[in-house]
Amino acid sequence: MVYRILIDLTQKQDESLRLTPEQQHYLSRVLRLKAGDRFVAMDGKGHSWMAQLSGNTAQLLETLAESTELPVPVTLLVALPKGNGFEEIVRCCTELGVTAFIPAISDRTLLHPSPHKWERWRKIAQEAAEQSERQFVPEIAAPLDLQTALQAISNLETERYICVTRRETHHLLAQLPAQLTKPIAIATGPEGGWTAAEVESAIAAGFQPVSLGDRILRAVTAPIVAASLVAAVLEYSS
Ligand code: SAH
Repeated sequence: MVYRILIDLTQKQDESLRLTPEQQHYLSRVLRLKAGDRFVAMDGKGHSWMAQLSGNTAQLLETLAESTELPVPVTLLVALPKGNGFEEIVRCCTELGVTAFIPAISDRTLLHPSPHKWERWRKIAQEAAEQSERQFVPEIAAPLDLQTALQAISNLETERYICVTRRETHHLLAQLPAQLTKPIAIATGPEGGWTAAEVESAIAAGFQPVSLGDRILRAVTAPIVAASLVAAVLEYSS
């Protein structure tokens, strides 16, 4: 296995990469790479290189043409669950290929995260993207109130869905169009679910209500299931 690390493009000078002290520590002490060993350097924005360690720097040997990204962008609007639930969502859904997360504060959201949490979520997304050999690190927006988040998404050209329980709705699989060419956005609620007014305002913002099956999923499970279904359809049909 070739290890992967995330770099910033400002570290790159022609074919050479100046490693930060943290990266040097990680490569030499944690991964125990020696001069001459190879690793993949990625910028998290779609570019990656095969690199070779030599002291405080690394030589970029070749550009890699990797492609493990989903064919269209998938955004999750997640009403924040309790405790560390969102960390689990970010980790699993990054593995599944999600492009962006919008954490939202809805009427029944209990968590009001500190800025420190946001940093942690971004770090988790970075680690999960490295681990699952992605080219992009998903973006995580700063938490928004639900109405602002719905509006931000409806301003974009997207297929939009809101996962709802206890309502006569079609399954997400039945609602996804046969040809998926537009970016997709999916909203999932907190432990207490959405209020009726929230579902109505999402519908007014162009979100189609959908079901994820006949059982009630936990607030942490629902986005993971939604992302799995979308990823499977996107990859199976493309
Ligand atoms: N007590 C709430 C359950 C909320 S589950 C209720 O009775 O509605 C948390 C969120 O996960 C929900 O708001 C919804 O977005 C999503 N979810 C869970 N199970 C689902 C299902 N079977 N279909 C669609 N969405 C579901």
